[in-house]
Order: sequence, then C-alpha cells, then structure tokens
Amino acid sequence: MIICYRGKMRVRLLPLALAKIINHSLSQPKVEVAGLLIGREENGVVEVWDAATGEQVGTPGFVILNEEVMVKVVEFLQEHKIPLFIVGWYHSHPSLGLFLSPIDIKTQLTYQSLYPNAIALVIDPSRYEESKKVTNSLYKIFRVNQQGEPIELPVTLGAGTRKLLESTLIGLTTTALFQREIHDTAMSKPFKAISNVFRQSLGIEGGRKNE
Ligand SMILES: [Zn+2]
Repeated sequence: MIICYRGKMRVRLLPLALAKIINHSLSQPKVEVAGLLIGREENGVVEVWDAATGEQVGTPGFVILNEEVMVKVVEFLQEHKIPLFIVGWYHSHPSLGLFLSPIDIKTQLTYQSLYPNAIALVIDPSRYEESKKVTNSLYKIFRVNQQGEPIELPVTLGAGTRKLLESTLIGLTTTALFQREIHDTAMSKPFKAISNVFRQSLGIEGGRKNE
C-alpha cells in the first residue's frame, strides 16, 4: 500500500509553518532543534500547514525529539477536530548546511514507515540570521528512496488566500503545541536511556549542552 510518486512527489509549504520553524531554529541558533510537520495530502502533494514541537535534547551536532511529542500532537489534533496529521519532521543544522546525515536517514525511514510519504525538512538558521531573507538556501526538504539515499523534493512556498487563512487559523489553535523550551530534566527514564545511547554512539559527552 505504499504510495510512490516516483520523482514526482511535491511539497507545498505554507508560510505559517515555515515561520514557526524559522522562529524555533533562531531561538536556539547554536544547537540543533527539532519538531514535527503537520499537514495533509492533496492530489499527491504533501502540504505542510503547521509545525509543532516539545521536549527534546539538542547539541550543536545532533538533536533528539521525545517520542511523546508525537503522541501529544496526534491527541491534540483529534481533540480539536483538526483534519491534519503528522506528515514529517524538521530539524536545524546550525551553520552545517542542508543535507541528511546517516542518523537523519535512519530517523526519516522511521517516519516513512509510519507514513509512506513522510518528509524531512532541514533548516540552517545562520542563512537567515544575517540577511533576514527567506532564500532557497535556508531550508530543504528530503525523503529517502528505496536505495536508502536522500533525495531533495521540489517545494512550493505559499497557497491561495483561503488556504493561507485556514492554515493561519489552525496555527493559532495549535500554539499550545509549540513550547520552545528544551526540558531536558523532565525526560522520562527510558527516553534518557535512548538519548544516552545516541550521545555515546556520536561521541558526545554526557554533560547537558543547552547553551
Ligand atoms: Zn541532521
């Protein structure tokens, strides 16, 4: 049942979602931040309407988002009868460039196993910090093909006025799903264990790095 738009899959990014992602990445410009992309699919186009985030651990070279954030987002959307779902994830690469690392590819494959057309947005906030301009070098959207290689997807930024208004209204409703603070200390024990494994495998010391 995998829907595959070979080389044809497109993404529509609504400004509100991108603004939230830019804002989030600028709030922690020296460490990686991550969150979820909320949207829907229309005529084979994955539309990103909104973004959400929550508990995570970030360093200058990696970030891990607590899986509970995903549960929280799904519950919130159902509770508020918002006809959108999680279409992927985003994370920042501060001054690192726009690509998927081997760990990012693994993470993306997990998202693609949950939703076959899941996408990964990577943003480098340093590209915005100085210029205050939203250029094509600020962000890129990828997915992983059957060979396990990341492929960049074409992105359209914007939509018709009605859709912009609808996404803005939803974005106002979901502000509760956008806590920028990194609550490292509030993490559950299993999550801490997972993040320690990540840290060790990446050669990152155990100290908290939330600068
Ligand atoms: Zn990455």
